[in-house]
Amino acid sequence: MSARRHPVTFIPGDGIGPEVIAAVQAVLAAAEVRIDWEERHAGARVFKAGVASGVLPETIESIRRTRCALKGPLATPVGFGEKSANVTLRKFFETYGNIRPVRELPGIRTPYSGRGIDFVVVRENVEDLYAGIEYLQTPGFAQALKIVTRRGSEKICRLAFELARAEGRKKVTCATKANILKFTEGLFKRVFEEVAKDYPDIQSEHQIVDNCAHQLVMRPEQFDVLVMTNMNGDILSDLASALIGGLGFAPSANLGDGASIFEAVHGSAPQIAGKDMANPTALLHSSVLMLRHLGEMKAAAAIENALLFTLEEGKILTADMAGGGREPSGTKAFTKEVIKNLGSAPKTYPRREYRRIKMPQVSPAAVAAKETRPMGVDVFVVTAIDPAVLGPSIESVLSGLPVRLTQISNRGIKVYPNTLGIESEPGDCARLRFKVARRGDTLADKDIADLLLRVGAKAPWVHVEKLFKYDGQAAFTKDQGED
Ligand code: NAP
Repeated sequence: MSARRHPVTFIPGDGIGPEVIAAVQAVLAAAEVRIDWEERHAGARVFKAGVASGVLPETIESIRRTRCALKGPLATPVGFGEKSANVTLRKFFETYGNIRPVRELPGIRTPYSGRGIDFVVVRENVEDLYAGIEYLQTPGFAQALKIVTRRGSEKICRLAFELARAEGRKKVTCATKANILKFTEGLFKRVFEEVAKDYPDIQSEHQIVDNCAHQLVMRPEQFDVLVMTNMNGDILSDLASALIGGLGFAPSANLGDGASIFEAVHGSAPQIAGKDMANPTALLHSSVLMLRHLGEMKAAAAIENALLFTLEEGKILTADMAGGGREPSGTKAFTKEVIKNLGSAPKTYPRREYRRIKMPQVSPAAVAAKETRPMGVDVFVVTAIDPAVLGPSIESVLSGLPVRLTQISNRGIKVYPNTLGIESEPGDCARLRFKVARRGDTLADKDIADLLLRVGAKAPWVHVEKLFKYDGQAAFTKDQGED
């Protein structure tokens, strides 16, 4: 093992967290990895102590210094905190790359055993709907903002290709819903296609994410590296972990340019906490990802091999792995067995060479358009008025303003003028689309302010969005039913 010492923050976490963290620390110590552990806290007890984020300032300070954390699962107790402490930690340290390896394990029988499942899900970890920006525009009309940036997409797509190179993988599949979400998922897909050109040694392809879910169940062995936006990646990576035995086996890394956080995918499993029943495999495998990240390739291989050998032998297994007449053992006995097996390697398991992932460098410069043309403004209003009545009523107050009402829509469906006779059940929040009256007209903020005052007298407005064309391309989507 290398002579370097590594400072690492560890967070025992909740439920089974302290047991699986202790198991991992025992294995790393036995493998003689030189780690200076710093214990810090987050999760249930921190929420209960009145810290709304669930993360103590000293925990943040420690990770800021060590740049590396091994974390047990964190629970959000009912009635405390509004935000997940996990998501808070990921966002505070911009750990944008969530890496979840999905590889068939020796000795763990699943309906897919023998098919050679071996791929990695690379999930964007801080953007998308996890920006957590939601509004109730009325008590019965909720809205969430899906945030996807060019830079965030470029970072995660490059990371996926760099990971493919580091692990000698041949193909990166990007799964998106770009067919429906043209600007958010569409931007991610376009950036993926641009980035792919810089990696001619790696094959690239795109799948629509719903088909990808289907493919993951039908033919998971086709995948090598899968890259996705946050929500899609969250859902499909859990699906993927089920293919190899479930949450007890699923490791993850949250990689950032500064700090990185390693954790099992599973939660605190309160039902089995404190009973010496938890399976430490997922966190132990997460610690292997951590060691690779720290450049401790030999130690990572030794621990992974000991773990795989223990699973392959199947002599000592925790309750979730035993079965088929085999007596279950406890967390401590399983950990001892892994330690005993340090120096052994699985007999039948295909080897893979790992190199350290080269973290991509992406310019922080914003992408500017050469020409930005104001096209109009969308105003969301709270109203139960029939659009056929509301439309003329709004049109009657526009005189002197440089805009015209082009349509009213509800949940993305054009309902005024309803030339197609569309049958829809409107919610109580409508979108009024105003476009500049004549091509080339400008739309000053004072015009918009005047418009809002006039519209507000007819129906209270709750949300405003300016409409632009960037370099001749509309930067807003059309409604269903709009020409
Ligand atoms: P969970 O804790 O993952 O537990 C679901 C079930 O999976 C457990 O009841 C247990 O099944 C099994 N399980 C999970 N990990 C296991 C392990 N290491 N060994 C053996 N069995 C394991 O999911 P949850 O019950 O939905 O969530 C509980 C709490 O954890 C919640 O507060 C949630 O917010 C939090 N959570 C935290 C994280 C995180 O920190 N990253 C992730 C997910 C959830 P059996 O009951 O069949 O034994």
